[in-house]
Amino acid sequence: MKMFIQGESVDAESSATFSVSNPATSEVVDSVPKGGREDARRAIDAASDAFKVWSERPSIERSRVLLKMAEMVRANVEDLATTLTLEQGKPLGEARGEINSFANTCEYYAGLIGRERGAQTPYSTGEGFFIVTKRPLGVVGAILPWNFPVSLMGWKVAPGLAAGNTFVVKPASTTPLTDIKVASLLVKAGLPPGAVNIVTGPGGVVGEELLDNPKVAKIAFTGETATGKRIMEGSAKSIKRLTLELGGSDPMIVCDDADLGLAVEGAAWGRFRNCGQSCTSVKRLFLFQSIADDFVARFAEKVKTIRVGNGLDKSTHMGPIHTEEQREKVESMVEEAEGRGAKEIVKGGRPDQKELAKGNFYTPTVLGDVDYDAQIAREECFGPALPIFIVKDLDEAIERANDTPYGLGSSVWTKDVERAYHAAERIQAGTTWVNSPPIARAEVPFGGFKQSGFGRELGIEGLDHYYETKSIQVLEYGKGKKWAFPIG
Ligand code: NDP
Repeated sequence: MKMFIQGESVDAESSATFSVSNPATSEVVDSVPKGGREDARRAIDAASDAFKVWSERPSIERSRVLLKMAEMVRANVEDLATTLTLEQGKPLGEARGEINSFANTCEYYAGLIGRERGAQTPYSTGEGFFIVTKRPLGVVGAILPWNFPVSLMGWKVAPGLAAGNTFVVKPASTTPLTDIKVASLLVKAGLPPGAVNIVTGPGGVVGEELLDNPKVAKIAFTGETATGKRIMEGSAKSIKRLTLELGGSDPMIVCDDADLGLAVEGAAWGRFRNCGQSCTSVKRLFLFQSIADDFVARFAEKVKTIRVGNGLDKSTHMGPIHTEEQREKVESMVEEAEGRGAKEIVKGGRPDQKELAKGNFYTPTVLGDVDYDAQIAREECFGPALPIFIVKDLDEAIERANDTPYGLGSSVWTKDVERAYHAAERIQAGTTWVNSPPIARAEVPFGGFKQSGFGRELGIEGLDHYYETKSIQVLEYGKGKKWAFPIG
């Protein structure tokens, strides 16, 4: 497959390529151009030219194009979802959901633009008035991770295009294929060529050009906190606007009055969806002492029913870990916790089945008696292993939940609304779900506290991050004081 610049499928100027592999089989799915700085510059120039056209289109036209984009993506859901499963590993059902969520995000922002209200406000001195308006930023560099390559592209391009910006997208090197296919559909939906470009290639080269190039006004990034720090540094040179969605170590708190059946399902969904590789996966589970035994018994039964396999197989519940490197990381975190005395409630690990031998599979693992200083408790564990902790009450749970540099998502499970609010107000995280696993919705702002990043995607706030605020100050004729210099 080629990359996508100015509405055309192109090779890298160097003609170099690299391959994309299926994490379930290690087979090569396709190859893509290994873009360099010169290719990134070509795409930035194309986006800069397209900005002049796209930003001048009336909002009703931009809205129509976004609706058409959603329609075209939905019409191609099977092809896109299959490509996503092949390159990312997630089960086909989850891949379909991800493609549809891209369309949902486009529809949400198509509905939002053209409905904003402004105001003309008189000066407090009565001499005139001011108007606050919004202007698009220009060219945005969207740098994407591999866990949700399509929906996270949607979180950026849908509000950004709605506001009148244009994009150079740098997908993760292991998941560029579906994004390329989506981008080519967007141009067919009526976007000017160059409004969304996809440049494939190493983050340290293509990504760095996006940071260095003064024509790029903003970087919208999702990925690791360490990379986010580098992106802040690199963006400082030309004071780029930034949205950073970084790692998380999300707590789930189950109180003694929770509906345990619901909470067991929520914990399984929250930890094992996408093979545990979501920024808001449940990464630490806190149980009240009095319900712990009952919950653990039911949860262990549930987890043992999870079928691991190739995402294309209809009977698969959970696919492989995305890369071998990631699998080794998860494995070493589990071993480190066990070295500190953790007990396996559900024993997971590399499966024995011959048909899974070539993939990066790792079966669900649940650990009890985990030391709070274990890596799995202190760092982001991006895979299907869950540590469980027992707490005496809600205040202890909240204190433990907040004892992390991260602050992305969290959840509290209780039938008592006062308890739910008490916890939600005190947990330091961008989102607290009440009696729900972590589900992002187009209309709800999403983002982190602390080292989980800043800025918000989705919701009205997500649109605001693609605008500059512009003030126009008007002195009413005859009302202002007479200007004379020197002052005095
Ligand atoms: P990275 O942060 O390394 O990569 C994310 C994106 O940034 C990729 O497109 C990558 O390109 C690009 N990138 C890398 N270096 C630079 C740079 N110097 N300048 C600009 N862009 C750059 O995350 P990974 O995908 O490697 O995942 C590693 C870890 O990150 C995971 O183990 C997980 O803990 C965490 N993670 C968290 C996510 C979240 O949503 N919270 C999502 C994904 C990962 P390239 O692919 O070419 O290296």
